Amino acid sequence: MTKTAVVTGGTRGIGLAITQQLKAAGYKVAALYAGNEAAAEAVRKDLGVLCIKADVGDFEAVGAAFAEIEKTLGPIEVLVNNAGITRDGMLHKLTPGQWSEVIRADLDSVFNTSRHVIDGMRERNFGRIINISSINGQKGQMGQTNYSAAKAGVIGFTKALAQETARKGITVNVIAPGYIDTDMVAAVPEKALEGIIASIPVGRLGKAEEIAGAVLYLASDGAAFVTGSTLTINGGQYIAG
Ligand code: NDP
Repeated sequence: MTKTAVVTGGTRGIGLAITQQLKAAGYKVAALYAGNEAAAEAVRKDLGVLCIKADVGDFEAVGAAFAEIEKTLGPIEVLVNNAGITRDGMLHKLTPGQWSEVIRADLDSVFNTSRHVIDGMRERNFGRIINISSINGQKGQMGQTNYSAAKAGVIGFTKALAQETARKGITVNVIAPGYIDTDMVAAVPEKALEGIIASIPVGRLGKAEEIAGAVLYLASDGAAFVTGSTLTINGGQYIAG
């Protein structure tokens, strides 16, 4: 039977590649986005995907969006927590607003979405939750105390929920991408980006499709024994044990 998948931030960058690959693999797909209407409209038009504007940092808004998705496409069986933002700054200059915006969008969001699907997944004895963390949640990054904390939090969340749900046929895994060629990385100053690429053993940025392929695997029935794991995909930039 065709499964229903939700991709947060599924209209641009890595999320768009995930949406495309899930759709191509036959899933019924819905994408959440924050406000870029042009990107969402293109996904609706080109892929026929249900795109809903909903702030993943807002528990009630996520609940309303997920209710609409389940009414239209059926129970959510695959949840990909991909939406995320950066608000960089050294801690001695970081504002409370920059701190909480990132924690809200990158970490609170994972609770907000997972909490809304977990009862249904437990009742049906099946579910796949795939979280997108970051290399910078694994190794820390100067200028990103907020982002590194949120992304490390996502890894801890994954490990705890994986243990809670393993007996219920629900797997929970996290992917930690390195630097991937998207709008988020395009915002990095050119000189800094050159330095980053020089530090990647593979010698290039990653491609969004290379993260999407891993999501497809983790969502598959064949990955039923993989849970609580952190999949590091970074061109060898940080080799995590
Ligand atoms: P982009 O900035 O290219 O796209 C982000 C997507 O998330 C957009 O669809 C955006 O919607 C959506 N989004 C952002 N905030 C919210 C929100 N509050 N509610 C709903 N949707 C939201 O990001 P990337 O594709 O580069 O990154 C995707 C994920 O991968 C993020 O979690 C990021 O932290 C992580 N990551 C990225 C890396 C990279 O090098 N690019 C490296 C490691 C991790 P809209 O289009 O409406 O703005």
